[in-house]
Formats: sequence, C-alpha cells, structure tokens
Amino acid sequence: ARVDNPYDGAQVYVNPEWSANAAAESGGDRVADEPTGVWLDRTAAIEGANGGMGLRDHLDAALEQKGSGELVVQLVIYNLPGRDCSALASNGELGPTEIDRYKTEYIDPIKEILGDSKYASLRIVTTVEIDSLPNLVTNTGSRPTAVPECDTMKANGNYVKGVGYALAQLGDVPNVYNYIDAGHHGWIGWDDNFGASADIIREAASAEGATVADVHGFITNTANYSALKEENFSIDDSVNGTSVRQSKWVDWNRYVDELSFAQAFRNELVSKGFESGIGMLIDTSRNGWGGSARPTGPGPQTSVDAYVDGGRYDLRIHPGNWCNQSGAGLGERPQASPAAGIDAYVWMKPPGESDGASELIDNDEGKGFDRMCDPTYEGNVRNGNNPSNALPNAPISGKWFSAQFQELLKNAYPPL
Ligand code: BGC
Repeated sequence: ARVDNPYDGAQVYVNPEWSANAAAESGGDRVADEPTGVWLDRTAAIEGANGGMGLRDHLDAALEQKGSGELVVQLVIYNLPGRDCSALASNGELGPTEIDRYKTEYIDPIKEILGDSKYASLRIVTTVEIDSLPNLVTNTGSRPTAVPECDTMKANGNYVKGVGYALAQLGDVPNVYNYIDAGHHGWIGWDDNFGASADIIREAASAEGATVADVHGFITNTANYSALKEENFSIDDSVNGTSVRQSKWVDWNRYVDELSFAQAFRNELVSKGFESGIGMLIDTSRNGWGGSARPTGPGPQTSVDAYVDGGRYDLRIHPGNWCNQSGAGLGERPQASPAAGIDAYVWMKPPGESDGASELIDNDEGKGFDRMCDPTYEGNVRNGNNPSNALPNAPISGKWFSAQFQELLKNAYPPL
C-alpha cells in the first residue's frame, strides 16, 4: 500500500550521471550528492539514449542506494505528442497526432519495467508531463498569448488523453506515486488561469481510464525560477493605499511566491474533486536567488513598484522568463515535509542542464530554437515584451551547461 508521503523517512535516489557532471565542476562536490529527477524525455531514454543509463539501470542503482531503508526514485514522464506547444526549446519526438505511439512505445514499456516485482520495494515518484495542461488554458483560443500549436493540442485532445493514459497505467503499479505538473505561480496564479487550470487537470484525471485515485499529488515550479517565499512583501500589503497587486511585477496575480501558490492550488484541486490527502512537491532546484544582489529587506514605500522591486528575491525582468535565467541560484536543498500540504522540496530539474539553446543547434531529438533562450531577444506577449534575460552560449535543452551550473552555485540560497 502507498504511504501518505513517500518522502517521509526515505532517502531519495542520486542520479549517478548528474552527480558525475556536478562533481566534475569546480565547487560542484558541495551538491553532487543531492537527488535530482531522472527525465524520460524520449522513447530512447527508456533503454538509455546515446549510451546513457536506461530506466532499469537507474532502478537497479536505486536498489543499491536503498540498502535496507526506504528510497524514493524521481522520474519525469515527458514525451507528449506535440510537446511544449507554446515554446520550441523542448519540442519532442512525437507529432501532435501521435497519441498511439505515446501509449504503446512510451507509457506501456515504462509501466512494464516499473511493474517488475524486482522494484516493488522502491517508492517510485512519477511527475507527469511538465508544462502541458495549463498551456491549453493560457495559450489557446482568443487569448492574446494563444499559439496555433496549443490550439491544435486542445482541439485534438491529445494532451488530456496522454496525461490520463499515463496516470491510469502508471497508477496501476502499487508502488508508483503520480504527481501531475501544475505550472507555477507566475503562470497559473491569475484568476483567469487558476480555476480553469484545475478544471482541465481534473478532466485529464478522468480521461483514458484514469481516476482521482491515480493521483497522489502535484508538482509546481518544475524547471522554473519562481521564488519559494518572498519575505519582504506579501499579497496583502499596500503602499499609500495601492495594493501590491497593482505593481508591475505582481500585475494582479493573487500570489507572490511558490509556497503560497502551491498551498492554495492544493485546496483548489481538492475542491474540484481530488482526494483530500494529496500532497504538493515544489521544484527548488533553481529558485534560490541568493548572491550579492539579493535584497536584505523591504523596498522603500515611495510607490508599490519601488516597494516590490526593491524587496523581491526573484530578480527576473518578468515572471514569464523561463530560459537559463541570469542571476539564478540553487534553492532549498531537497527535503521532506517542509511545510503544510507540501510533501517535499525537490530538485526535479537537474541543476546545470540547459533549458534551451541560445541559437539554432541541429539535433535529432526534435528540439527547436526558442528565442526566449537568446540573450539578445526583446521578448513577446508571453513575457510582456521584455528582454529574455537568458545566459549566452547555451546548448540544447537537457545538455550540460557549465556556465549556468557555476552561476547556480554562486547564487545559491541558502548559500552553500
Ligand atoms: C529537456 C529534456 C531534459 C530536461 C532536464 C528539458 O527542458 O527538454 O530533454 O531531459 O529538460 O534537463
């Protein structure tokens, strides 16, 4: 039987491949033994892409790390048809209509391996399809942020079906814990997006044989940079009678940080029919925002903008910026039960792996070039037409990016 919080009383699997990359970096040995997510980001990753470890290799290594205690393995299920519909950097191998290949060539083989009795003693956390369902709300239809690729995925239903199928199949394995991706506060935290995202997630949890019993929880901020807790201002503050919600940075959002968002979204999901025991994960791999530029107290009360901008830890130009952010640092180290409703802080995105190439680089993974990863880009409607703030000279998404890793070490918070 599943336990309430798989992270309680358990170690978490250290991916030897990520660990070796981290340890090879100057100063990287300080974090090389931290657990990170294993991304099954294409069909070939199941057997091991390009000579790397496959799923069974990871699970075998996990059994060794486990010894006689409990151990969580963190997998990322990430191969939907028409993947990454609102961006290009993580487009995948399956075209928009290839839902059958997703089922038979990707989910079914994963299920078969996870269901092997050899692995029954592991607590297998599967985080399901990052950055998919909320795109069907925020980047479709008459929204100014709409893109045709997301309209296509909404119309053909293949994101909803794919997530439903993954939940239903993987949920059949008794020691699998499904956590659905739930975006982050700087995306879902606005009134227009909050309830509607919960609705579409609820719909997916009923598709293709899935039920809410297949859902153990949700993960927020995966591979994003939203600060965990903004301590120098709160959503209820105002300056000279003007709410911080009217500041340029907050821009009418209901949440100013990930922890408050994750807790509130958890309640929203329960109100929409998910089980009351669901737990949240927050990806804190790259939301530390430490270093010398970190504010040491609240901003001046001369205007809401001065107050918010002077006090906020998240130093992005705009919360819509998502690619290889300059100034970011490692966040809270992975830990179990850090706050009410939160199962764990996790490093699901392996720090030091790129979010996308800063220029077009040929590859055989289907990955495109998104200008949000180009440091010279002046932006689009999804980031308020602001500069991308991306680091230069980045390799394609998922590849080791030494300069970014060094930046993350330097700006870690808590400091290393
Ligand atoms: C990439 C994946 C990669 C993952 C973790 C994603 O942005 O598309 O290929 O495995 O990041 O680094």
